[in-house]
Amino acid sequence: MTATGLAAALVDEYLVGSGAITLVGLISAYGAGAIPPAISALKALFSKGELDIDLLMVVAAVAAALVGAPVEGAVLLALFSISGALEHRAMGKARKAVEALMQLRPSVAELIDKNGTRTVPVSDLKPGDQVILRPGARVPVDGLVREGEGSMDESTITGESMPVSKAPGAALHEATVNLNAVLIMEVRRRLEESTVSQMVKLVTEAQAMKAPSEQFSAWFGQRYTWAVLIGSVLAYFGFLLYDYSHELALYRAATLLVAASPCAIVISVPAAILSALSASARGGVLFKGGAALERLAETRIFAFDKTGTLTTGKAVVTGVLALHGSADELLAIASGLEKFSEHPIASAIVSEAKSRSLTEVVVEQVVSTASVGIAGRAGERSVWAGNPRIALLRGANVGDLRLRDVQASAQTLVYVGEDERLLGVITVADEPRDTSARGIRALRSAGIERVVMMTGDRRPLAELVAKEMNISEVHADLLPADKVQLVDELANSAPTAFVGDGVNDAAALARADVGIAMGVAGSEVALQAADVALLSEDMQRLAEAHRLARRTKAVIRQNLGFALTAMIALVTAGAFFELPLPLAVIGHEGGTLLVVLNSLRLLWDPIRAS
Ligand code: ADP
Ligand code: MG
Repeated sequence: MTATGLAAALVDEYLVGSGAITLVGLISAYGAGAIPPAISALKALFSKGELDIDLLMVVAAVAAALVGAPVEGAVLLALFSISGALEHRAMGKARKAVEALMQLRPSVAELIDKNGTRTVPVSDLKPGDQVILRPGARVPVDGLVREGEGSMDESTITGESMPVSKAPGAALHEATVNLNAVLIMEVRRRLEESTVSQMVKLVTEAQAMKAPSEQFSAWFGQRYTWAVLIGSVLAYFGFLLYDYSHELALYRAATLLVAASPCAIVISVPAAILSALSASARGGVLFKGGAALERLAETRIFAFDKTGTLTTGKAVVTGVLALHGSADELLAIASGLEKFSEHPIASAIVSEAKSRSLTEVVVEQVVSTASVGIAGRAGERSVWAGNPRIALLRGANVGDLRLRDVQASAQTLVYVGEDERLLGVITVADEPRDTSARGIRALRSAGIERVVMMTGDRRPLAELVAKEMNISEVHADLLPADKVQLVDELANSAPTAFVGDGVNDAAALARADVGIAMGVAGSEVALQAADVALLSEDMQRLAEAHRLARRTKAVIRQNLGFALTAMIALVTAGAFFELPLPLAVIGHEGGTLLVVLNSLRLLWDPIRAS
């Protein structure tokens, strides 16, 4: 509208010469270009006492019109609104990647009830409901496979394009796609608690939590905008003193006002951060805000949990050594307990008992202790499973000679007992993730010198895994509080990131400078405590996110450097070299656009899979 009005005025002025059209064109250019920003700027001024930079543009255009340069004022308004629209689109592009997630979830699901199936809105689903998933359908809420086997495309959530095969018991994530089989799914979480809602919540929180440099540029922008406004008034008087006519002084003061406007400076940081947050979200790495991104860029030490973080957390039972009774009896007790636990070890034991078709012992009053184990009552007896701490607590003897071999091996051991008697040991193995070693190598080559492992598991196993990952600093047999203390110590020497998955990691995640949680397999508590969620669970992407964070800082530096230089040049030209107003406008708007485009480079350089 502004541009059309301006175009009409220009055509008339130079080609037709009716005058009337020029006037109408200019009036519409000013009306459309100046009134809306003026209204919103005045609102901000009176409601929040904040001076909007847009107001500077309006003041400059009006000043230009007053001194008989209305066309130049209209050029200013037109360029201002065009570049505003372009910026808006660019920033919208950055924001879209996340919003697109919302549209991925289906709105209805096919619920199985006693009369067959019926279609219900997804928001009606509750835990325990059973739903039919047909090939090509999206998973409506988080759940698990009840019947059927097939593969899923989880790329919407994890960014990983390889299909993942699913058998009964496997977790299904909201918004992922069922590729080939008819599955019956059991609902585990309501819509509000499912993966996508959680992710969207994370990102909404992210937008509210501004990065330190973002806060600075907003603070600076405010003060600076006032300074420009006052400075221009002073400049006007200065030009008058310098023997300029009233008109010329006002024109040049308006030019200075435009030249000195801090649009490019103020957008430097948010444009870069928004682009980076979007790029990383598309790659399966979710930051809870620009602040986390900036802290990751500064991180010098990375500490990793082992089970479920460096290893897949898809543990399997490798052996059962019964000291009293049969191996199956031992497993039946252990799985009766472990079905209440979220720990990777627990699911290994439960599925082993299932595959042996054992009837698990009924256990009540179950209490689980992070990094120790789990205990409860089975009828008259108290039963327990866990590491030697729990055995010690019960007064059980773990020194039986028959245990020597397994104790010497590099495996995870679960001691199972009844009252004060040790019944036997279950050995569990958990493969290292194939991306762990690569990710750590990438971090090292990016200049991270200290990589530390912190685990609640046994030392022999911890060291074996650490060696494979080329980690030399290993802390084993830790309780959750020990992890917190170690993280504190590390953080005192240099900015520290902690990567973990479990309930036992939550405190350390919260304490670290940057807490990074394994997104999909990780526990809810860990996700809540963390600053970053690694949805793809690919350590290579963690290294990529770190690289992106550093690049973001570099882009911010470039933006600010460029914006400041351009502004100083324009102001100098405006003050001393009679810079024409349209050139000031082009320089100013062009500079702002360049800053936004430079930031978009981050968006076009997404996090890649390994
Ligand atoms: P990590 O720190 O490597 O993630 P955890 O702290 O979660 O490991 O677990 C440490 C140890 O505590 C395990 O190796 C296991 O011996 C014991 N443990 C924890 N939870 C359980 C459980 N539910 N059942 C049996 N053992 C457990
Ligand atoms: Mg863990």
